[in-house]
Amino acid sequence: MDAQSANKRPAGAVLSPLELTGRARTHVEPLPEFGCELEPQAATALRAMRAAAATAGIDLQPVSGFRDFERQLAIWNGKFRGTRVLLDATSRPLVAAALEPAQRVAAILVWTALPGASRHHWGSDCDVIDRNALPPGATVELLPAEYAAGGRYARLSQWLAQHAHDYGFFLPYDRDRGGVQPEPWHLSYAPVSAPALAALDVDLLRAALADAALDGRAAVASRLAEYHARYIAAVAPAPAAALAAAAVVNRATRPA
Ligand SMILES: [Zn+2]
Repeated sequence: MDAQSANKRPAGAVLSPLELTGRARTHVEPLPEFGCELEPQAATALRAMRAAAATAGIDLQPVSGFRDFERQLAIWNGKFRGTRVLLDATSRPLVAAALEPAQRVAAILVWTALPGASRHHWGSDCDVIDRNALPPGATVELLPAEYAAGGRYARLSQWLAQHAHDYGFFLPYDRDRGGVQPEPWHLSYAPVSAPALAALDVDLLRAALADAALDGRAAVASRLAEYHARYIAAVAPAPAAALAAAAVVNRATRPA
């Protein structure tokens, strides 16, 4: 899928069921400078926010943007099978094989979305770091402590708290709401993600998972409505300030 196709979508168009669940990439365009893809309006706003952050000495960079269903499925199955690191809510490693399937599913959901239910499917959400604060040769880890006071990205966190809304972004995983743990690196572009969240209901998700080679399928299917409420719907609401500002950013920076 090329950028031109993504740009042909009318601005503000609601994502289709395939786009919402990561099974199409018709709604995203590449950001070659960062090696990721985002929905065009989100990309424009991110570039504007990045330019503003640069004036504060922050090199705001997305390290993960759009992710498709298959990629999310590989992450999920890897954690279920124990071939990828599975962490508990305090970031300590768990042994997948020691857990019953239902326990494994519950543990995975603390940090990892169900395939079809990742906000990264929408192209509106990305994980960000301050590249200036990352020592040369250090790996990008995305740990809460890095973004807390005293952490390498503490300044980035402070800057985002003050300015992200001005560009249409907010932190959906701002605090523990009983499901996904706080993710101070995960930004969401409100004008795209707010309608996407509203559209992604249990039936749509169930249909997306129907033919997928999902490990733990029975455990997931039996509690899908509960998981939807807890891990998908229980996020910070899109702030009115972000929704209002986003329209201005895109009007100002996009060619007519
Ligand atoms: Zn994320």
